[in-house]
Amino acid sequence: MGMNDTPSADRIHIGFFGRRNAGKSSLLNAVTGQNLAVVSDVKGTTTDPVTKTMELLPLGPVMMIDTPGIDDEGELGSLRVRKSYQMLNKTDVAVLVVDGKTGPMPEDEALFQKIREKKIPCALVLNKLDDEVDGDNGSGRLSSQLPPECPVICASARTGRGVNQLKECLARLGKQEENSKRIVGDLIEPADFIILVVPIDKAAPKGRLILPQQQTIRDILEAGAVSLVVRETELADTLKNLGKKPKLVVTDSQVFGKVAADTPEDILLTSFSILFARYKGNLERLVEGAAVLDEIRDGDKVLICEGCTHHRQCGDIGTEKLPKWIEKHTGAQPEFVFTSGTEFPDDLSPYKLIIHCGGCMLNEREMKYRMKCAADQGVSMTNYGVAIAHMHGILKRSLGPFPQIAEKLENGGRHNNK
Ligand code: SF4
Repeated sequence: MGMNDTPSADRIHIGFFGRRNAGKSSLLNAVTGQNLAVVSDVKGTTTDPVTKTMELLPLGPVMMIDTPGIDDEGELGSLRVRKSYQMLNKTDVAVLVVDGKTGPMPEDEALFQKIREKKIPCALVLNKLDDEVDGDNGSGRLSSQLPPECPVICASARTGRGVNQLKECLARLGKQEENSKRIVGDLIEPADFIILVVPIDKAAPKGRLILPQQQTIRDILEAGAVSLVVRETELADTLKNLGKKPKLVVTDSQVFGKVAADTPEDILLTSFSILFARYKGNLERLVEGAAVLDEIRDGDKVLICEGCTHHRQCGDIGTEKLPKWIEKHTGAQPEFVFTSGTEFPDDLSPYKLIIHCGGCMLNEREMKYRMKCAADQGVSMTNYGVAIAHMHGILKRSLGPFPQIAEKLENGGRHNNK
């Protein structure tokens, strides 16, 4: 990602789905005006989902996703179909591309059912209708199940028919999905001072700030407030010399202990991980999940999930530090299972607790999907930041800006589903 790019996780994800010969890739290329996907007349050319970040006017920054055909056959084929279905978990707007000459097939209907279940805004495109006179061919059955806001577009990637209509439609559907949530913007007023504590240790990337720090600064700027970025070693002096009480101190979790000691009790203190847990998911449930850490016994299975496989900004926290802290906290020897990237087990029932990373590379929809899978299967879930805060006894203080959630913690008002 270049320094000036909108983070992938904050882009509207637009996924193109359909059968192998429906012309998804050509249509996608017609919409983007770029040769994004592999196109050929050979069935099933797209074997892995292909993604590309771009500006799609009039919507803005998006992530375009081309997916393998949902009717692929054989062992490898069904693996591809699975990958396409998995892509739905991060898709904010779906385009179902159907061969307009043949009309929708059973695979199209099955996919459409899934799209509806997941409540993903969707457009149905009847592709390959080159002539303006070619009409809706046999899509009646599918169209009759379509909610009124799901448009049906007659299009041809070859002649360009319907392409502008589809773009406008994507812009409309995408706008509805745009994330209006704030990282800190809703907690502060214009002209407030917010101190951000960023340790510069060997884990910090050279020459730059990490994404959550950049995004927090940006959100503070948008709120018209003032951010001061300091290392933990300069915090005490800064607070003394500031001449004005900051509204909030936000720190990296790793130095929370020192920062908490240096920040007077009457100043609200939280961590980047708490802010992002709230921004990306459901802070309340993650806080409830953390309480399950107190009940971990020998042999209990704990699933540790990371959202990406390489260039991890969170280093060895999940794979090394977290298991050690958990063993120390519980005095037990649980069994740790690790997953990363797009991998997320279907069957979560063996696990006592799921601890997810902050998910900075995952979009909101994917994070919500994972939380929902856990909730549906009655498994508690928390994340790195909240779990670490809990085990270090700092969770209560870091929930200072969120009194309703802190109150639940106090009252033990959690509903552990197990
Ligand atoms: S928080 Fe998760 S998604 Fe972000 S860098 Fe770490 S492992 Fe990857």
